[in-house]
Amino acid sequence: MSKPTVLLIYTGGTIGMMKDFATGALKAFDFDQLLDKIPELHLLDCEIATYSFETPIDSSNMNPQQWIRIAAVIEENYEKYDAFVVLHGSDTMSYSASALSFMLENLSKPVIFTGSQLPIGDLRTDAKENLITAIQVATLREGDSSILQEVALYFEYKLYRGNRSSKINAEHFNAFASPNYPCLAESGVHLKVGNEFLLKADKTQSLIVRTSINEDVAIIKLFPGINETIFAGMVSIPGLKGVVLETYGSGNAPTERWFTDTLKDAISRGIHIVNVTQCSGGSVNMGQYETSTMLKELGVISGKDITTEAAITKLMYLLGQQIPAADFKDIFETPLRGELTK
Ligand code: ASP
Repeated sequence: MSKPTVLLIYTGGTIGMMKDFATGALKAFDFDQLLDKIPELHLLDCEIATYSFETPIDSSNMNPQQWIRIAAVIEENYEKYDAFVVLHGSDTMSYSASALSFMLENLSKPVIFTGSQLPIGDLRTDAKENLITAIQVATLREGDSSILQEVALYFEYKLYRGNRSSKINAEHFNAFASPNYPCLAESGVHLKVGNEFLLKADKTQSLIVRTSINEDVAIIKLFPGINETIFAGMVSIPGLKGVVLETYGSGNAPTERWFTDTLKDAISRGIHIVNVTQCSGGSVNMGQYETSTMLKELGVISGKDITTEAAITKLMYLLGQQIPAADFKDIFETPLRGELTK
């Protein structure tokens, strides 16, 4: 059997950065040098090809246009390669992995995001392990098929479903978590794959890349003291089409009249409001407390146990798909790529 083929897509991030000796700041360097830094890559039992953004970016500069570029590279090379590994800054990696999970419909090959906390040239770098194991995971096969058939994120010995992951630490190598869904795989002496947690592709369907994304959205995090002027001002932003509302606990919010009236008015103007919890784990359950009953009655969408990263990218994705207003809530509350628990 021929060796599996992998396309490494380098978008930027710390993994490919080096110190500018003049300023001391980290900046991106040439992708060819990245491969030179890891001769171990040649030992892997697969064929590796590379594609690099001509100007690698810090992931703080990621946006839907860049997601579309990543999606386009995958689409153009989909038949040529068995797997895709996307090197990406860790700061917004969970947003990109979530967005790509929605944009790549009927995906049947692995798309694994990875990066690192320390640059590849650093003596104590975490980049080598992350990159090498991400490639190994991406090339796991069962007969003719890839074992992984979804967008995932590999970091510090763990493989997460991309749209279930969040960056939780700015310093530790163990920088990501998936609070509401088990790891897809764990790397130790052996590579342990949780087969029962993986998405399985319908092989009769071919890949559809959906690149229509609507950015007229906002994330509003509630806090004790948020007042009418501020909140009403935020939901009256011209052109606003959807809001991810980060509420307390299991989806609770103030019961004050001005708050519910403002929300009611926004919903009547066609703005989709998605209720997501501020807690890092657990689920929204509107109606459990009096403080969420009104939200349910107003027609607020339940984000259930979705992450904020997946909620905002799903909102942008669905708003781009011209879904009839009457179906929007149902579709949002339905898992499309395993991003929430039904
Ligand atoms: N600022 C970097 C980025 O997200 C951090 C990293 O790569 O880990 O691009």
